[in-house]
Amino acid sequence: MRLRNIPGAKDAITGSNYVVQEPASHKGKWTQVFPKDQPLHIEVGMGKGRFLMDMAKLHPEINYVGIEMYDSVLLRALQKRERLEEEGEKLTNLMFMCIDARLLPEIFEKGEVQKIYLNFSDPWPKARHAKRRLTSREFLARYEQILADDGVVEFKTDNKGLFEFSLEEVEAAGWKLLAHTFDLHNQAEMMEGNVMTEYEEKFSSMGNPICKLIAKQGA
Ligand code: SAM
Repeated sequence: MRLRNIPGAKDAITGSNYVVQEPASHKGKWTQVFPKDQPLHIEVGMGKGRFLMDMAKLHPEINYVGIEMYDSVLLRALQKRERLEEEGEKLTNLMFMCIDARLLPEIFEKGEVQKIYLNFSDPWPKARHAKRRLTSREFLARYEQILADDGVVEFKTDNKGLFEFSLEEVEAAGWKLLAHTFDLHNQAEMMEGNVMTEYEEKFSSMGNPICKLIAKQGA
């Protein structure tokens, strides 16, 4: 998702209490960022943040960080978050950050993150851009540097080509595939507790099957 540049987006983000400024300064100390010391789950490429805001509401026992690299997109998430706060929804277990996910190992210490959500990640269809795909072996190696030993990656997409590539990358990286489906919405077991993302709602309402995989590092 790339929105046109929005004047003032950068200032709004820099001035927001919901956005972690200088995230690398919290490496190894992420529990101090939140009021409660509890497991940390992150979404990489969160877009306008609907999924994580719903998750944070449903799971106050988890701390969440939403990561988005474009400030114009993150601004949309902030605006939604402000509306929620006006309605009395505080979500003290959710923070955002504006970074490129390539920097993750500079921001989190090994073992600090229990779960990584990748939802409807950009497909980068050209072969020469494969390294930019968030499920590429290069990104899996970055996730290994921040995940707990039993930590997992959960990935959803309607893009079958990207999904097949991701299954191959999980294997090539020596990760263990814990579960997968090419039709999540007709797979009762994996659907349990499913929270829809913005893109998931859009593409599933067009009739596109949704694919999902769950994987962890180590065979
Ligand atoms: N996850 C949301 C959903 O399912 O509705 C949004 C999906 S949108 C297609 C993918 C988002 O990932 C875009 O907003 C894009 O800017 C962001 N993104 C892509 N590569 C990224 C990276 N390397 N680091 C951080 N964000 C990234």
